[in-house]
Amino acid sequence: MDYPVGIIGAGPAGAAAALRLSYLGMPCLLVDKAIFPREKVCGGAISGKVTTLLHRLNPRILARFRALPQQQGVWGIRFVAPNGIPIDIRFPAGGELPADCPPGFVCPRFIFDDFLLQEVRRRASIRLVTGLEIRRPVYLPGRGWHLPEADLKVGLLFDASGACSAFSRAQAGLRRHPRHYAVSVRAYCRNLTDCPPNGFLELHFLRALLPGYLWVFPLPGGRANAGIGIRADVLKKKRLKLRREFTELLASHPRFRTARLEGSVQGYGLPLGSRRLPISGPRYMLLGDAAQLIDPLTGEGIGNAMYSGFIAAEQAAECFRQQRFDADFMKAYDQRIARVLGTEMKLSTRLQRAGRYPALLNAVADLLNSRPETTGQLSAMYTDLEQRKALASPAFWIQRAAEALCFGKK
Ligand SMILES: Cc1cc2nc3c(=O)[nH]c(=O)nc-3n(C[C@H](O)[C@H](O)[C@H](O)COP(=O)(O)OP(=O)(O)OC[C@H]3O[C@@H](n4cnc5c(N)ncnc54)[C@H](O)[C@@H]3O)c2cc1C
Repeated sequence: MDYPVGIIGAGPAGAAAALRLSYLGMPCLLVDKAIFPREKVCGGAISGKVTTLLHRLNPRILARFRALPQQQGVWGIRFVAPNGIPIDIRFPAGGELPADCPPGFVCPRFIFDDFLLQEVRRRASIRLVTGLEIRRPVYLPGRGWHLPEADLKVGLLFDASGACSAFSRAQAGLRRHPRHYAVSVRAYCRNLTDCPPNGFLELHFLRALLPGYLWVFPLPGGRANAGIGIRADVLKKKRLKLRREFTELLASHPRFRTARLEGSVQGYGLPLGSRRLPISGPRYMLLGDAAQLIDPLTGEGIGNAMYSGFIAAEQAAECFRQQRFDADFMKAYDQRIARVLGTEMKLSTRLQRAGRYPALLNAVADLLNSRPETTGQLSAMYTDLEQRKALASPAFWIQRAAEALCFGKK
């Protein structure tokens, strides 16, 4: 074998896996068809999950990320109900992270993914090949995989090739389902005014898009990443044309009164983690979007992709320690992903489904607005140390806020 592990795709899932492997002392091959820096259609919201994982790899990696001039620190989120009532919730700071570290960030993927690859390049044990597409890995029973395009053999294969992964379809048999798939468009804007303070994210729950929403994520210099996303089956049922809806919103929604579009509106798919799927097999594991791990409520996929990269790397170390690569042994990966992300995914799925009722969202926004202490109670949960680890993620807060919105009187 040329490398114990080969990784297809150097987005957040693949790069995180390679970095974690290198810290575990295992060499790997990391291949991407793109030449970096490259753009990836995304909102660019970087949750506390991501910063926690960077910090766990090495506090200096997090420090280097924080030093990037193109990122914007995020301290909370503003929800705007269909009736226009805004609710602001602060994200908690601290936990595993330095006390002065913002609990979230927004960073264009052109910058963030390239930053991860610069970290990869610092690690001698990772062989990075860009500009090479791996089309048809060939399984060598009992030995590993041959990657014909690279003319290299690897013992274990990680598929981190994203939402359009051919491997996950052809080898693992994963299919898209419109109920578990969202579509989204986004654009960069400038000259945005009336932004909430402290780099708050904005989610606007617009009646026409429920349970989807419009987001406005701030960037330095008065720029923002804005977009809309909606479940594929709902889009079809409502007969919406997403790009047209968004272009109309940019022209008519008061939030964009002063805004100017930068570049074009671009779209991409989001495979949601609202059902449990088999994500491993003999000598392979699926990571990130290839494993359909995006949070069904918030659309957060970067943190989950990186988590899956860490877990896959640790599973790989275990495979080599025990010299077990069979499908049964690999199931430990599926189980650990379910343990780490499963509860959050289930709750998000429930809340996403509840979020399709505008009257419910309005009622709870009214309730929170009339009882500001409720949002204070949400923050108070952070004094619990065990809770705090989980709560370091904006995604978790979006869910809790929605929960309070839905069940606040309990
Ligand atoms: C419009 C939109 C907005 C979003 N907003 C957010 C957000 O704000 N926050 C958030 O956390 N998540 C967001 N997401 C989700 C997030 O973008 C994904 O979950 C995340 O990019 C998944 O990372 P990944 O590494 O699995 O895949 P990707 O980032 O897609 O990386 C896959 C890599 O594999 C490479 N590749 C593909 N095929 C091959 C091949 N055959 N050979 C070699 N290389 C290959 C690609 O070039 C790419 O670099 C959003 C998604 C969309 C579509």
